[in-house]
Amino acid sequence: MAVRYLKTGKAADEQAQDDAAVRSTVEAILAEIAKDGDAALRRYSTKFDGWSPQEFRLTRAEIDACYAALRPQDIEDIKFAQVQVRRFAEHQRAALRDIEVETLPGVVLGHKNLPVNSVGCYVPGGKYPLVASAHMSVVTAKVAGVKRVVAMAPPFEGKPAPAIVVAMDLAGADEIYALGGVQAVGAMALGTGTIAPVDMIVGPGNAFVAEAKRQLFGRIGIDLLAGPTETLVIADDSVDGEICAADLLGQAEHGPNSPAVLLTDSEKLARDTMREVERQLTVLPTAAVAGKAWADYGQVIVCDTRDELIAVADEIASEHVQVMTRDPDEFLARMTNYGALFLGVETNVAYGDKVIGTNHTLPTRKAARYTGGLWVGKFIKTCTYQRVTREASAMIGEVCSRLCALEGFAGHKEQADIRVRRYTGKNAA
Ligand code: NAD
Repeated sequence: MAVRYLKTGKAADEQAQDDAAVRSTVEAILAEIAKDGDAALRRYSTKFDGWSPQEFRLTRAEIDACYAALRPQDIEDIKFAQVQVRRFAEHQRAALRDIEVETLPGVVLGHKNLPVNSVGCYVPGGKYPLVASAHMSVVTAKVAGVKRVVAMAPPFEGKPAPAIVVAMDLAGADEIYALGGVQAVGAMALGTGTIAPVDMIVGPGNAFVAEAKRQLFGRIGIDLLAGPTETLVIADDSVDGEICAADLLGQAEHGPNSPAVLLTDSEKLARDTMREVERQLTVLPTAAVAGKAWADYGQVIVCDTRDELIAVADEIASEHVQVMTRDPDEFLARMTNYGALFLGVETNVAYGDKVIGTNHTLPTRKAARYTGGLWVGKFIKTCTYQRVTREASAMIGEVCSRLCALEGFAGHKEQADIRVRRYTGKNAA
């Protein structure tokens, strides 16, 4: 297979060192929150965000002041985006059906889809106020039927970000807090004197947020590991370097550790794109972040065949995969590892990130090998139940009794035997 790397990113061992540093920082913060509760939240919020208000929870008056701080058009645009997210989530919810079936005469098995009772939605806001994450988590949780939705975002430029707060409120959040990072995730998972713990935490965030969710998983549920944004652009010579570069940098600007990868079967397009990236970095206002991400994590990979493109893309298992080739649907038919696909040059990751209605909270760091992104189903527990007639119980009990004996489970066996005796008047054979 002829796969050439015209540009590569940070080596795996350097990434592993970064990971270890994040892991120990998060461990220490979570231990302090478990020990000191609200006092620890205040210490870390002051340290990382310079933020120590009287209460982290926003009052109704503070939320209303956020509406007043926005232009009417901003509020309309937030509502438009939420309608799209809600519409798609409602269709997805409708596809999740409860079932009840008779699998043998007298044996009735079923499952019910039950929403998680309480959820914490983390909305990132360190580098940018990520308003859209409020739609993605809070709207979707409410469509699923979650009763208590707690929403937290860090302060932005020294105060709660009005657009995030309004988006959380319009989406139906029951409690809104201005608190960020590991402090927020730890508070929602562990609970403190002032914050009741939730059953599950969802939403994207930086490497610290993703690692906090990973460490807390088990104690609470999580949606998935949705860390620093990644993008993969698959392109052939039906598109040009200018649009490929715009689509790579548009995602690299998320953070200095956001990988942006071009995968192409055209060496000319690869070289044009690399030149264009350098040119666009001279004019992009967020070039400091995007340029660092491109320098450290950007990759340009050239393959010869369609099969190679698909194999390499599946191996990368990127969060976002933008397919700008003559036959994007072939990638839809054949690819198996991705967070979300963007098919054709007409769409792009920013549409998915901000407004089109598919969820933008998506798996990173190859988690797309085993999970899709956040969706209404992540808030739903599919729980089974069963009932049987006396006749069916006697029949199943005979088999169950023998299977329990095979495993040496005497107590289990008696659960079956007692029913066989009662319903047939005889011992299990
Ligand atoms: P953030 O809200 O995730 O993180 C900000 C918080 O990080 C701060 O409140 C602070 O408490 C904490 N922090 C900062 N430096 C720290 C340190 N040295 N030690 C401990 N804690 C520290 O906002 P952000 O930083 O702008 O990151 C947002 C991230 O979300 C980006 O990486 C972006 O790519 C990612 N994202 C991912 C997806 C996805 O679905 N995978 C979607 C959207 C955004």
